[in-house]
Amino acid sequence: MTTLLPLPRIRPADPSAERATARRLADGYGRVATDLRVSLTDRCNLRCQYCMPAEGLEWLPRAEVLTDAEIVRLIRIGVTRLGITTVRLTGGEPLLRKDLEWLVAAIADLDPAPVIALTTNGIGLAGRAVGLAEAGLARINVSLDTLDPVTFKKITRRPRLTDVLDGVDAALAAGLTPVKINSVLLRGVNEHEAYPLLEWAMATGVQLRFIEQMPLDAQHAWKRSEMITADEIRALLSEHVQLVEDPADRQRRGSAPAELFRVRETGYAVGIIASVSKPFCGTCDRVRLTADGQLRNCLFARTESDLRTPLRAGASDEEIADQWVRAVAGKRPGHGIDDPTFLQPDRPMSAIGG
Ligand code: SAM
Repeated sequence: MTTLLPLPRIRPADPSAERATARRLADGYGRVATDLRVSLTDRCNLRCQYCMPAEGLEWLPRAEVLTDAEIVRLIRIGVTRLGITTVRLTGGEPLLRKDLEWLVAAIADLDPAPVIALTTNGIGLAGRAVGLAEAGLARINVSLDTLDPVTFKKITRRPRLTDVLDGVDAALAAGLTPVKINSVLLRGVNEHEAYPLLEWAMATGVQLRFIEQMPLDAQHAWKRSEMITADEIRALLSEHVQLVEDPADRQRRGSAPAELFRVRETGYAVGIIASVSKPFCGTCDRVRLTADGQLRNCLFARTESDLRTPLRAGASDEEIADQWVRAVAGKRPGHGIDDPTFLQPDRPMSAIGG
């Protein structure tokens, strides 16, 4: 059992009274946000070429990054007053936050407790998976684009494939299931690995999700013509297995970003997230909090709502909740990547929280 520091007193005196006044994070298009993505840091120990330049980025000053207590307070407001039911911790690389286990335990101690998930590159996960599971982490997504150490180093600019694979094994052993694998395919780099990744995922018991590359790189080098589309991914896999659509999967999809395809031979479900070519904004239930306390109602939003300033200036929970409600109310119907007026957000994915 991992030794955790004592939890702060973060519950309201009468949680049921707060729940009675709970509001919803509704926007003007009939969507309700219930899934909060919290970036714990903008720093990362990889330099994936579709995300960051080789030299890294100018990191947020420490003083601007939310403290543990501030993060827990904002999440508490979200779950007790605003109907947040799932909290996904991400980054940057969330495992770089040394106190992550403490944070997970504090979030799990909220009433009502949200489902807690983590998106990570898996480096260091091998030694922490059990502690995270014990702290209350329910699910995990590990990012892995290749099984070849040379290609791994080419994409991430770091020789850490073994650490990631060890992390996946540890997550499975710790029961952090389903373990989902996020893979981005890059033309001419790892597209030939679509099927080997699927074969590995089927053998290992992880759920594979391919993600279309999005215009969220710090270098602003993304080109739609270069992106491997969902249709191409499906075609690449179909050279090896027969993929079929199961109407029950479609019915169950809800707000899940991945469209599932079943491998006819095994029944295994592989996901393809067509964020660019077949956007799913109409069912989006997500809202994002950056490491420096800015609320974003869309991954591609060009505006943010600053929660950190009122938080540090002594605003009440109700005032912060009011601001949060207003920020989500202004969510646009879609990300507009296909719109000729589309402008990439100023912050890259690593600073928003993927
Ligand atoms: N460091 C953690 C990780 O690697 O999972 C969490 C943050 S990372 C930004 C979250 C996810 O975003 C990863 O799966 C990564 O592959 C994905 N990602 C980053 N940039 C992307 C882009 N331009 N297009 C699509 N996915 C991207």
